[in-house]
Amino acid sequence: MFFHVILTGECNSQCRYCFGEAIDDFDEDSSGSDIDYCLPRKMGYDVDLLAKFCAHDPECVLTFYGGEPLLCVEEIKEIMDGVKAKGFMIQTNGLLLDRLEPKYVNRFHTILVSIDGDEELTDFYRGEGTFKKVIKNLRLIKSNGFMGELIARMTVMEQTDIHRQVTWLLSNDEFPFSSVHWQLNAGFWNDFARRDFKRWSQEDYNPGIRKLVKFWVDHMERSGTVLRLYPILGVAQSLLCGEKKSLLRCGGGWINYAIQTDGHIIICPTMWGIKDYYLGHARDANPLKLKRIFVGEPCTTCDLYGTCGGRCLYANITKRWNKEANALVCVTVRNLVEAVREEIPRIRALIETGKLSMENFEYLKYNGCEIIP
Ligand code: SF4
Ligand code: SF4
Repeated sequence: MFFHVILTGECNSQCRYCFGEAIDDFDEDSSGSDIDYCLPRKMGYDVDLLAKFCAHDPECVLTFYGGEPLLCVEEIKEIMDGVKAKGFMIQTNGLLLDRLEPKYVNRFHTILVSIDGDEELTDFYRGEGTFKKVIKNLRLIKSNGFMGELIARMTVMEQTDIHRQVTWLLSNDEFPFSSVHWQLNAGFWNDFARRDFKRWSQEDYNPGIRKLVKFWVDHMERSGTVLRLYPILGVAQSLLCGEKKSLLRCGGGWINYAIQTDGHIIICPTMWGIKDYYLGHARDANPLKLKRIFVGEPCTTCDLYGTCGGRCLYANITKRWNKEANALVCVTVRNLVEAVREEIPRIRALIETGKLSMENFEYLKYNGCEIIP
């Protein structure tokens, strides 16, 4: 099992699509849910309790999450010293990576660092100076011996040219990444009316994805290596394996849960405080016997459900975007799947001639990459 350990609700950034949206959404309805507004600002339960909880599952993987988890360096160290987990990962904005000693950083299996592309775009979304500070910290952890997987985690919306920004992250003089994941900022806020999502997704994002998939396979042909562009990689692997039915690919609600700062277990970090979806408490729950929750309509009757897996349980439950707006998001999913499907013969040819093998497409599932953006 995978668990996001939410160490704090606080963050040291004020990104447009998170802090900005939270302000614009402030007066709007939160779909009638019973929300717990009194959660502790920082982890308010004992590390021993987390150790006992994880002891039920020898395969337990913990991902530090926030707010910004590196605001809680002492708690991270205590957990890494005191909890026997199969592995540790972290999702961070990267601004404070220099605060955690290398002996801990170097134990992370994976670090997902928020970066949206080049300096101009990253600083536009995340605030001036963000890019330079994050890159400085990434160089530092590399020079201190971090050997795990470093994933550039992009949040993508109307200002993003997906093809240009992903290829920039892969190949630039500042800090080239070999793993990139992106998630669309779509369906998480009551913001559709103030967005230009329809035009952008149709005229910009969808064609950009097609170009990117082609680039990905061209690169395979040229170099004999598979770039870890997670949304494309995850879909391609399923199609190559002939997988019939994928469950929600982020794992939310069935293999990947989150533990709030008060110890309650929730479906995923975005369900923070929504009491209707509390699934127990780390004090007495067995990680292997947690209730499973799956997406409902429109996913369950969608012809793409087997491949898509449902995109996002939070969006599916809260329905913050209306039917028509959500349908536009589903068009992006269909476009991604079709673009990858069209390239499968070219990929198979590379496998059949021995230039690549199926192992090249393997990755650690539920590592924080939702696959379907
Ligand atoms: S494409 Fe849309 S409706 Fe279909 S399974 Fe995915 S998220 Fe659900
Ligand atoms: S995709 Fe949705 S359900 Fe899955 S982790 Fe992200 S917000 Fe949660």
